[in-house]
Amino acid sequence: MIKTDILIIGAGPTGLFTVFEAGLLKLRCHLIDALPQPGGQCSEIYPKKPIYDIPGFPEILAGELVDNLMEQIKPFDPGFTLGERAETIEKLEDDSFVVTTNKGTKHNAPIVAIAGGLGSFEPRKPQVNGIESLEGKGVEYIIRDPEVYRNKRVVIAGGGDSALDWSIFLADVASEVTLIHRRNEFRGALDSVEKVQELKNQGKINLITPAEVIGLVGHQKLSAVVVKESDNIHIDKEYTLETDHFIPLFGLSPKLGPIANWGLEIEKNAIKVDNTLDYQTNIPGIYAIGDVNTYPGKLKLILCGFHEATLMCQSAYQKINPGKKYVMKYTTVSGIDGFDGSRKEAEKAVVKKIE
Ligand SMILES: Cc1cc2nc3c(=O)[nH]c(=O)nc-3n(C[C@H](O)[C@H](O)[C@H](O)COP(=O)(O)OP(=O)(O)OC[C@H]3O[C@@H](n4cnc5c(N)ncnc54)[C@H](O)[C@@H]3O)c2cc1C
Repeated sequence: MIKTDILIIGAGPTGLFTVFEAGLLKLRCHLIDALPQPGGQCSEIYPKKPIYDIPGFPEILAGELVDNLMEQIKPFDPGFTLGERAETIEKLEDDSFVVTTNKGTKHNAPIVAIAGGLGSFEPRKPQVNGIESLEGKGVEYIIRDPEVYRNKRVVIAGGGDSALDWSIFLADVASEVTLIHRRNEFRGALDSVEKVQELKNQGKINLITPAEVIGLVGHQKLSAVVVKESDNIHIDKEYTLETDHFIPLFGLSPKLGPIANWGLEIEKNAIKVDNTLDYQTNIPGIYAIGDVNTYPGKLKLILCGFHEATLMCQSAYQKINPGKKYVMKYTTVSGIDGFDGSRKEAEKAVVKKIE
């Protein structure tokens, strides 16, 4: 059983910043995320896109923001359960909660902060007969460990950033990379589109457009995909392309998922909270912050998640330390005392006579 003060479900920007605010109050955090890496939408959907509305950063790449948040929370030494979805919640007699993941990992905390964003992401699957039976046997929707593809033949389908970025990355890892897209045009970062063009020219990526994968070959293991390709005058041809892996990267569709069954008040696929006070849900001790919550005037923006996390931590502090007064101090004054023994503080003023 993993024990902590605040159990955060969702390691997106809101969940990560919660660790920092909780750390200032000497509260320890553990995060659970269904994805294999922290960062939520920023890491999974648009790591290379610039964000322009983070206070103090005129422009920052989403992936860079996540890296900075990870650096900022380092002194507070958070725990992570990654690649596991929070599935069930149970309230114990001492009013603390036990959250169990789909892989059976149990976590216990007096406070649960749901920072689940748009929910746990489910991959959008192409309509190809029998695809489910080959999932994990050559068909994957998320690349968790690129090493799996070393010296293997890989077919990637899709026309967005993920398809482009992974084709580029795997061009140096796999023995053969084929990128298939149903249009000639790709919708992604300009440098990624140009890089794919360059790798195609060098013969490191096979590009097949406009085309679709319409069938799969293999029983216990994928052995080939069936490709339907149109030429310029729209005459279709179908053929079989041998491959070890087929990776359709058509984006992820968000689903609130198991959290929807936890007895929380839900409105339009989001969790209702008390925004006049502390972003607590209808179940005392369970908070919902960031994109996952709703209240009048709610905006699904990163900076709103940061604000909600800050107020939520103050309320959690009072619950964990009833009656104990907390006096808010500026970090410029208090500095930061990490759980790892580190200390960051502003340079002290010196007393020195000026001649
Ligand atoms: C293309 C794009 C561009 C954007 N641009 C901007 C912008 O310019 N400025 C801005 O402010 N915002 C922008 N946003 C919105 C911004 O990304 C979100 O507001 C932000 O990511 C919300 O953070 P979060 O931590 O609340 O949720 P998320 O980032 O969604 O993270 C939630 C995490 O919770 C996990 N999770 C959910 N349920 C479970 C469960 N049951 N078990 C385990 N894990 C779970 C998910 O896997 C996910 O990792 C953009 C969004 C997109 C898609």
